[in-house]
Amino acid sequence: MDQKRLRYVHVLLFRCKQCSEPLTLPVESTVATLEEIAADKFDLKCKCGWSQKLFGLEATRHWSVRWGGPRDTEHLRSPHWGENDASQDA
Ligand SMILES: [Zn+2]
Repeated sequence: MDQKRLRYVHVLLFRCKQCSEPLTLPVESTVATLEEIAADKFDLKCKCGWSQKLFGLEATRHWSVRWGGPRDTEHLRSPHWGENDASQDA
């Protein structure tokens, strides 16, 4: 098994700056932490016609899900808000 080839999907939730509709954006990465994609810019388009490039760190919410492994559905049941699962509040 190749543990280093695990992939993650980051789901970024943005708010349209024109009509406030929620916009989600899936981003594939090889790491689970938001830092990796926080400084990347993403093309966002809303059905109202608004479009803009926003940084990953401007997302309202962020989830990361392990992708492609046998446990990805388990991660969907227990989302970790904002941060990696290494430091849960006790
Ligand atoms: Zn909009």
